[in-house]
Amino acid sequence: AKKAVLGPLVGAVDQGTSSTRFLVFNSKTAELLSHHQVEIKQEFPREGWVEQDPKEILQSVYECIEKTCEKLGQLNIDISNIKAIGVSNQRETTVVWDKLTGEPLYNAVVWLDLRTQSTVENLSKRIPGNNNFVKSKTGLPLSTYFSAVKLRWLLDNVKKVQKAVEENRALFGTIDSWLIWSLTGGIHGGVHCTDVTNASRTMLFNIHSLEWDKELCEFFEIPMEILPNVRSSSEIYGLMKAGALEGVPISGCLGDQSAALVGQMCFQDGQAKNTYGTGCFLLCNTGHKCVFSEHGLLTTVAYKLGRDKPVYYALEGSVAIAGAVIRWLRDNLGIIKSSEEIEKLAKEVGTSYGCYFVPAFSGLYAPYWEPSARGIICGLTQFTNKCHIAFAALEAVCFQTREILDAMNRDCGIPLSHLQVDGGMTSNKILMQLQADILYIPVVKPSMPETTALGAAMAAGAAEGVGVWSLEPEDLSAVTMERFEPQINAEESEIRYSTWKKAVMKSIGWVT
Ligand code: ADP
Repeated sequence: AKKAVLGPLVGAVDQGTSSTRFLVFNSKTAELLSHHQVEIKQEFPREGWVEQDPKEILQSVYECIEKTCEKLGQLNIDISNIKAIGVSNQRETTVVWDKLTGEPLYNAVVWLDLRTQSTVENLSKRIPGNNNFVKSKTGLPLSTYFSAVKLRWLLDNVKKVQKAVEENRALFGTIDSWLIWSLTGGIHGGVHCTDVTNASRTMLFNIHSLEWDKELCEFFEIPMEILPNVRSSSEIYGLMKAGALEGVPISGCLGDQSAALVGQMCFQDGQAKNTYGTGCFLLCNTGHKCVFSEHGLLTTVAYKLGRDKPVYYALEGSVAIAGAVIRWLRDNLGIIKSSEEIEKLAKEVGTSYGCYFVPAFSGLYAPYWEPSARGIICGLTQFTNKCHIAFAALEAVCFQTREILDAMNRDCGIPLSHLQVDGGMTSNKILMQLQADILYIPVVKPSMPETTALGAAMAAGAAEGVGVWSLEPEDLSAVTMERFEPQINAEESEIRYSTWKKAVMKSIGWVT
């Protein structure tokens, strides 16, 4: 027997660096009804290079959708109740594909990838006018992190890409564009678009005019014809062309960090959230104003929930390596078999015993922006064992958050009274308690940790022509909160933090 009608449902694709998920929510309560998750391979073909296979990513999305629909079937939930689909994605990761064959012309160059270091150095020597040229238009420092330099590298180094551009067959996109184009039909009429949040991470997008910037495209020598159309984060882009959800509109699109901001209902000026995934990203809503940081934070588009709705901006502190350090302990050192095991090791000792781990694998992002940094583990003695290193890895994530929170407090003037958190790592209770201790403010975590997907689902459900989600706080009645209060004294926390800073200084300037 079919279950009583739940009200309209909304699906969300959450395509992260570590994994892909598809989740289905009840739009009336935000209750998560079912989901499926698949881990994504990362390739490291050379030191500093990080790639993923765009086709594997697309396949994983289809697999997650099909499996979730099967699970809903087993729960007697009719999938025809799914009225819309939202997409949230790892940001900046760059794909170029052939619009006639649908084939990617190279692997996806992942946001963490460092191959563009010399490209960045060369470009920074010829920034026109004042040094603020790129930053004032995009809110971003010139760095290996953003798509424009990755795309520049592909145009310079990959013959297939060059040829496809000459023959007018090339399309560029971040993961959202690649997925939406493919899901809405690919070579049979796929829609080539992106949203303002993803566009704002390419370094080609003017965050004031909300358009691709001609001068930036000239500076990076990027042909504008290959860029996707920029749309709002909440509108119907197209319909699913195949699979169990064929015909369902795709009507929400947000970079993962923006999606989490929406999913945490940070709609007011001054509201912030921190997401602990592969990296760690603290975003603070600054309303309709573009606030420029004096302390190493980025200015970025937070969201624009509808074609005629106003744009919101955010200040962002980006940390490259958070969960990735746990994955590294698992895959490269093999001291744990699963990410969850880290908690057991850390618990055994309850201290790093003076060991500090700066995981600057991809240089340091905010607030340092130091491409010359590399990872270090220091303070080792005969006594140190893998448990201390595990503890130090967790502590590193908390210290890095403290650094960006301090920068945020300085830029905003009003210190945050608590920190709203989410992301894969927040299931780790030791991490959450350590974070409260190191920040010396309470850490607040929603019982439903999938806020990134929730944000994308909300945007999709609220779109004009869908209209099943109203974005009012009572729509999240299924979400409750868990609080972690600081337990150590502030003095102890300060001592640990200042030793951490000493360790950071040792990691900087490692490569020249
Ligand atoms: P992303 O969105 O970047 O793909 P997720 O939010 O899915 O990332 O989080 C996955 C990351 O969190 C992985 O890097 C993994 O190592 C880490 N992680 C998952 N569970 C735990 C845990 N219990 N303790 C510490 N780290 C964890």
